[in-house]
Amino acid sequence: MIMSDYSISTNTKPVSLKSGLTIGGTDVVLMAGPCSVESYEQTRAVAEAVYHHGGKILRGGAFKPRTSPHSFQGLGLEGLRILRDVADEFGLLVITEALGVEHIPLIAEYADIIQLGSRNMQHYPLLWAAGETDKPVMLKRGFMSTIAEWLAAAEHIASRGNERIILCERGIRTFETATRNTLDTNAIALIKQTTPFPVMADPSHATGRADLVLAAARAGLAAGADGLLVELHPNPAEALSDGDQSLPLEALPQLVMQSTAVATALGRGLI
Ligand code: PEP
Ligand code: MN
Repeated sequence: MIMSDYSISTNTKPVSLKSGLTIGGTDVVLMAGPCSVESYEQTRAVAEAVYHHGGKILRGGAFKPRTSPHSFQGLGLEGLRILRDVADEFGLLVITEALGVEHIPLIAEYADIIQLGSRNMQHYPLLWAAGETDKPVMLKRGFMSTIAEWLAAAEHIASRGNERIILCERGIRTFETATRNTLDTNAIALIKQTTPFPVMADPSHATGRADLVLAAARAGLAAGADGLLVELHPNPAEALSDGDQSLPLEALPQLVMQSTAVATALGRGLI
């Protein structure tokens, strides 16, 4: 479709969260935290930093979809408890991944947003189970999925009655090997123009490299993303998952400053 209006206009229907926060409204929203919840101390250190920089949403994986079964699989229920505890201490909301249908009731109990991962984008029973809850769902794009397949997956969630769906572009597999994935900024712009769904950008999984995360974050916001999902770790070199792409806490001020600058250029703020 050729647009006759070249102003920045969207049809996004904002998704409202607890505490009056919305995703897909005027302001862009930062969701940040460790790839995996590894310990109380690690998660608390990250939550404290997110809170001190004005962040409102803590991410962290308790059930991890690891490519190798020999990698750290997450702390499970203990991880959910840690996330909830430290988030409550700082008044943050929690987003965490449900890996299987059996996790949905547990995640719905502990989290404010249910994350469905890239590897599970076409796991239909999981989409249906999330669609039967009353929690907002963030659906990450399958790394080998087209935009049409991604939107069809979102429709599976909506088909069970839950329309509070947030999409997340987390990079797709291309022929390039210098980066883990390729951030599809086209997809972000297209989603904003043609669908009612808010869309987040995940510069961490999209690049796989901490030194590229800020650039990808700026690009995602410039393309119109409604927020960022960013991995942070107090000591990335020791992280049990995704250390190469995790920003150290010291990078958070720059991330916030640069994201605010891009958001401001588009007439938006950063929460
Ligand atoms: C994650 O957010 O840590 C994660 C596993 O992401 P993805 O599903 O995009 O690989
Ligand atoms: Mn990760």
